[in-house]
Amino acid sequence: MQKSVELIMAPPSPHFVGDGFRVHTFIPSSYRIDMHRMNPFIMLDYNSKHYFEPSDTPRGVGVHPHRGFETVTIAYQGKVAHHDSAGGGGIIGEGDVQWMTAASGVLHKEYHEAKFARSGGWFQMVQLWVNLPAKYKMSAPKYQAISNDKMTRVPVKGSGFIELIAGEVASFIGPASTFSPVHISNAKLMAGDVADYSFPFHFNTAMIVVEGEVIINGTEQAPVNHFILMENNGEDFNISATQDSVILVLSGEPINEPIAAHGPFVMNTHQELVQAFNDFNNGKFGYLE
Ligand code: MN
Repeated sequence: MQKSVELIMAPPSPHFVGDGFRVHTFIPSSYRIDMHRMNPFIMLDYNSKHYFEPSDTPRGVGVHPHRGFETVTIAYQGKVAHHDSAGGGGIIGEGDVQWMTAASGVLHKEYHEAKFARSGGWFQMVQLWVNLPAKYKMSAPKYQAISNDKMTRVPVKGSGFIELIAGEVASFIGPASTFSPVHISNAKLMAGDVADYSFPFHFNTAMIVVEGEVIINGTEQAPVNHFILMENNGEDFNISATQDSVILVLSGEPINEPIAAHGPFVMNTHQELVQAFNDFNNGKFGYLE
């Protein structure tokens, strides 16, 4: 049975996160797309293509904490450097992903990579927050660097392919390890290609047209930078590219647990949020210069 399109949304007005990320927040963005609707994806900031002028001081976001979930950064253009208090870190560039499991808590900072900052250039990224099941919220922090060459390439009808980051498509498996069933992929399609996807009907599923223009299920046209929310009414859908296109596909099994979120912490209860602020104020998230 076919999964149909529920909503195709133009990007909301952008805002800056720190001075290095000019983002459209698709999740949460309205009463329709609140923190629960795309659960386990509880936040999604999309930095549509933006030109940053050269700068001697790298732009970005200074040291800040997280607890209770994972941050996944997907780079389309430009380079980002990341460091966290658990020792994770690295530089990601075009086609790469960094997957940071904050879990019990880390401090981290996210900046444009120094050389990219000095030369300036086009920058395009997605940052996702993936919730953790209650039983893993206080587990040890972890960092996965998923360079482009580690991703699983899945053929489509045509000459493009799907780059699988996490989860499954057509019995191929992506390299990221996850704490609940999560699928993240980029369909990199040439004009005329068709990619077929199938997820259980109860998985929450959405897409972003990162590049190009596509038609979903042969009928619903979606232009670049638009967010496509799928209904939970079927399993199969397809993406046809009318131009050379890149489509970020997200699907995941909802974690049916309460969400208590404030700022950089996402827990299950108010008490756990208070604890997170206390632990942060008492230096229990470690140290990062
Ligand atoms: Mn962060």
